[in-house]
Amino acid sequence: MNVGSKPLPYGRQTISDADIEAVVEVLRSDWLTTGPNVVAFEQAFASFVDARHAIAVSNGTAALHVAMLVAGVGPEDEVIVPAMTFAASANAARYVGANVVFADCLEDTLTVDVDDVASKVTARTRAVVAVDYGGQPADLDELLKLTRAHGLVLIEDAAHAVGATYRERAVGSIADLTTFSFHPVKQMTTGEGGMITTNCVDFDEKARVFRNHGITTDHRQREQQGSFFYEMKELGFNYRITDFQCALGSMQLRRLSGWIDRRREIASRYAEAFAAIRGILPLSTLEDRESAWHLYVIKLDLELLSADRAQIFTELRSAGLGVNVHYIPVHYHPYYEGLGHRRGTLPVTERVYEQILTLPLFPTMTDEDVQRVVSTVKEILARHGG
Ligand SMILES: *Cc1c(COP(=O)(O)O)cnc(C)c1O
Repeated sequence: MNVGSKPLPYGRQTISDADIEAVVEVLRSDWLTTGPNVVAFEQAFASFVDARHAIAVSNGTAALHVAMLVAGVGPEDEVIVPAMTFAASANAARYVGANVVFADCLEDTLTVDVDDVASKVTARTRAVVAVDYGGQPADLDELLKLTRAHGLVLIEDAAHAVGATYRERAVGSIADLTTFSFHPVKQMTTGEGGMITTNCVDFDEKARVFRNHGITTDHRQREQQGSFFYEMKELGFNYRITDFQCALGSMQLRRLSGWIDRRREIASRYAEAFAAIRGILPLSTLEDRESAWHLYVIKLDLELLSADRAQIFTELRSAGLGVNVHYIPVHYHPYYEGLGHRRGTLPVTERVYEQILTLPLFPTMTDEDVQRVVSTVKEILARHGG
């Protein structure tokens, strides 16, 4: 343990001087928002994830909300959402007045259990949200089979999974609507930011309208056409992203593949080192998909260890590792309890929640940083019989 060295966060952004220059250049230009850099970023992103359309928005939560709106989800509808996710995946369904039905996850990947989703489809179900937990895609083909059979929309919350692939296809090109987040802790950042991708032209057009107050043209288009006229067709929102954020996004996107390679390298070092520790149960990485490695999550073998997760968490934090827990099951939050969601209903999610810990993982970690995580985890688990 390196006493006195800076705590290692579980994730952090990488910003270069060239990124900063690109942002400053836009700040000196005519368009601070909805300008040429938004369009360029959308096109570059669509091409990166092999999607026909990409719509940039102000954050990943806005992307989920817009996805619900274009999918036509509304009051009285049900949306099936895994509970092992960030609250925003479920909240988006609530924004449009729908009821959330929580699904359990698989023990080995923490992605949604498709059989459990299938058992929860009713006549009111309108959409299913899949979350690519930690960066590893959910079972998208199985989910598409199910959603197609019932006429449901599959919304993939790929906030963890930019750059991931599923059966050789890029995440962003597979579900009916895929949403991404560019929060600084994710693999690439625009400060705050998000993206929706789709292959459906109708969804694309609707998303652009919902992003801009429900208005059919934007300020720049009207200026180019020399016209003041516009119509508000829907009750939309202001979910626009600025031009300078998109300049940053385009710069980040160019380096993304290299960053994911480094994340993968660190993940495999962790996997190798932890294979020898009995108290750690690794998550599975499946052969037919490539994780984008947003998070490195381990499960503690609580039957073997003499301490619980809270104790181990505290010791790792005091040793300077910025460990975290992803996630508190969404149905545990008071807001959802207030809606009648109960504990004891999702056995796998609830059990693994007690076991999970997220370790530091970001591309600028040095080999020494990785070694420090490995030896600190080893040392602390050894104290507790691991
Ligand atoms: C980060 C995240 C979001 C929300 O993205 P923001 O850009 O922070 O709004 C949604 N879902 C999941 C699973 C996330 O990790």
